[in-house]
Amino acid sequence: MARLTALSADSMEGRGTGTPGAARARRWIVRELEAMGVRPLGASYEHPVAWRRRGSGDSAVAVNLVARIPGREPGGPVLVLSAHVDHLGIRNGEVFNGADDDASGCVALLEVADALRRTPPRHDVLLTFFDAEEAGLQGARGFVAQPPLPLARIALVINADMVARQDGGALWVAGTAHTPVLKPLVEAVARHATIPVRLGHDTPGGKPGDDWTSSSDHGAFHARGVPFLYLGVEDHADYHRPGDDAAKVDPQFFGAVAGVLQELVRAADAALPSLPPHRQPAR
Ligand SMILES: [Zn+2]
Repeated sequence: MARLTALSADSMEGRGTGTPGAARARRWIVRELEAMGVRPLGASYEHPVAWRRRGSGDSAVAVNLVARIPGREPGGPVLVLSAHVDHLGIRNGEVFNGADDDASGCVALLEVADALRRTPPRHDVLLTFFDAEEAGLQGARGFVAQPPLPLARIALVINADMVARQDGGALWVAGTAHTPVLKPLVEAVARHATIPVRLGHDTPGGKPGDDWTSSSDHGAFHARGVPFLYLGVEDHADYHRPGDDAAKVDPQFFGAVAGVLQELVRAADAALPSLPPHRQPAR
């Protein structure tokens, strides 16, 4: 909760892409990673990607952060964990703090990083803190378009976006409909969880907004055929509103989600070699 409060504080100015607040948020995350001894992938944590703004077509730069936790058997398949740093910034004088969206995912990743550093995974794990998600998954799209390692090595991405609010009473895990081999793995973790963990929100044909397959950064990976698991909660009254504050978060629920994510990461790490190769998605 201390981390969540820090990353969603007014001083971060809503972490709008390209703003001083976003740069401050990146520096804060980098300091957290350095403090726990997690090194960048490559020479710098910062991986800038160019993109064009919808509508105006203006060129813009998103700055992703990418860290690597070396596995005991490096060089094989890679597990990518992701969350997005950016949020909506300041609008009409109001700071959109985005505690749930998605400071919560970033903090959950930091908690996992701490655990993985103490008990190393079998495979390499990348921690990706994406920028410009709110502008249409731009940081993640740039990452998969010019990946810092061959995309074929990325066996799975686990994306956490909005994981701290329990208004809906459950944590959802989406993605098993696309990669059924992951279903028993997620179900086993769900059985031991101290909060309700539900599988779904990953098939077309339901109500509008019911299918979360492309709702966050995992969508950019899915579009390239990379299997994904997405962790998130139902939209709540403060979704994309200035009231998305750390004070509205239930610490027990958020703590339990962080635990579920860690269990999923351990199980996925063990299962990584048995995951199917990337499917070529329909265009
Ligand atoms: Zn989000």
